[in-house]
Amino acid sequence: MPRAVVVILDGLRRDFVDAVHTPHLAQFAAQATWFSEFRTAFPSATRAVSASFATGCYPARHTLQGNAVALLESDLLVPHDVGRPDFLAHKRAVTGHALAVPTLAERLAPCGGAIVFNNVSPGAANAHDPDYHGHLYHRVLSRGPGDTAVSDPLRVTLDAEGDRAMTERFIAEALARRPALAVLWLGEPDHIQHEVPLGSPEHLAVLREADRNAGAVMAAVERQRATGDDVLLIVGSDHGHETVSGFVDIEAELIGAGLKDGLDSRDVLALSNGTASLIYLHPDQESRYPSLLDYLQSQRWAGIVVPREDLDTIGHAPRYGLAVAVSLRADQAVNEYGVPGCSLAAVPRWDKKTQSGCGQHGGLGSYEQSPVLLVEGIGFQGGTICAEKAHIVDLAPTILRHLALPRIGMDGRALQR
Ligand SMILES: [Zn+2]
Repeated sequence: MPRAVVVILDGLRRDFVDAVHTPHLAQFAAQATWFSEFRTAFPSATRAVSASFATGCYPARHTLQGNAVALLESDLLVPHDVGRPDFLAHKRAVTGHALAVPTLAERLAPCGGAIVFNNVSPGAANAHDPDYHGHLYHRVLSRGPGDTAVSDPLRVTLDAEGDRAMTERFIAEALARRPALAVLWLGEPDHIQHEVPLGSPEHLAVLREADRNAGAVMAAVERQRATGDDVLLIVGSDHGHETVSGFVDIEAELIGAGLKDGLDSRDVLALSNGTASLIYLHPDQESRYPSLLDYLQSQRWAGIVVPREDLDTIGHAPRYGLAVAVSLRADQAVNEYGVPGCSLAAVPRWDKKTQSGCGQHGGLGSYEQSPVLLVEGIGFQGGTICAEKAHIVDLAPTILRHLALPRIGMDGRALQR
């Protein structure tokens, strides 16, 4: 039976893949197809991107709008940290669904199943399978189909060492069980990139560890192929990173401009998604929309401002009060290690504030929108570069096509030739 194996190195920028920094990925590129125009969702933030990977749909259809979002609850705009383990269950209770379209785990439940090993936030891990169709192994939430307990929960740390322990278990358990889909989602190099400058010795050391973990999976898949298995192997990342050039407290700016009543008011919410912000307007305050949009469009810190009527151009819909999306100002400046790509970031409500000079993501900047995609298997010519547009929503239909299963109801397209 054909199978698919996916390895995601969270936060890996395309321009960091070379023989020096990532020797296993560079070697894999010689036998896989390299997608040089691969892009990710907006916001380029792990939780929303995970839902787009899992469903093959943009946020407009799966309805998980970002890493931090608002929901309209009992006529109130309520801000939420999507990283929490219980957020998607709460969203199901409020909106009627965790995600509005089926995940790969749901589609594959009757035909080979899905096993996900994941070392990022609990909310991002949940986005792969919020309705409990397959197996999920995560450091704080491991479970089987039907939300059943597993005898062997994953207990690892969120760092390179934890990723290595998770990779060993993934190879020994997930690959050995030969499900239709096995996903290994590493926490690095994203985790270290938030803590140290891009290109610094600490960053590059962890990047080599992440590359080695990916290399171990590539070797294990090769051994399975040698026994006759037909495996589609996808190795990539969910977004890149930019260097933070400064911070903007957008809610404070809106209060100062008279567009939001106060820190705790529910009229307007600006929710930081790293280098992007999702701005929600309560329906009762509709009269503020023109001045809110005018204000945002005139701010130097607002790089790209997408009004409600154009949200479809970035894969969004004006749902739950979402009124404006902002990608903060990014440029091509280089950091202290000569790494190009800097962006302002929005001050977060919940996540630890990233330091200026370290990595961040979420917006539409060139480097956060340049993740990695390498695919090896039937329909992909080895050692070639494909310069056609490819998007994170294309991965789910590509996997289903390899498995010879229907792929209706997806925004993406299968990438096989
Ligand atoms: Zn990520």
